[in-house]
Amino acid sequence: MTLAQIADGMAKSVMIQKVKAKRHCKPCGGKGWALAEGKPALCDVCGGDGQGRYTLAERIDITGMKITPAGYIKTWELFERWAFSELSEWENKIRKKLEGLVRPLDSGI
Ligand SMILES: [Zn+2]
Repeated sequence: MTLAQIADGMAKSVMIQKVKAKRHCKPCGGKGWALAEGKPALCDVCGGDGQGRYTLAERIDITGMKITPAGYIKTWELFERWAFSELSEWENKIRKKLEGLVRPLDSGI
């Protein structure tokens, strides 16, 4: 696999994870919390947002790489995180531009 193919696969993976989000978190049923020793506690798996996550194996599979999870974590996961932050910046940029574009309509709504 070439570096260009890896970059393409990783870009595809983060876009899918962001846009095609999984349904609710299975362990907590999408509530974001569970009772631990009789007290409510944030779900360890989703961190409290109730959102399902792609597993490491699924994320690797989407990239098209033939690599072990340990190898992926060691070499590629940081690049995946970087790609996510780029995607978030892109999303924020789009949101701000849209706010500017719809502002003139504000008085008409
Ligand atoms: Zn959860």
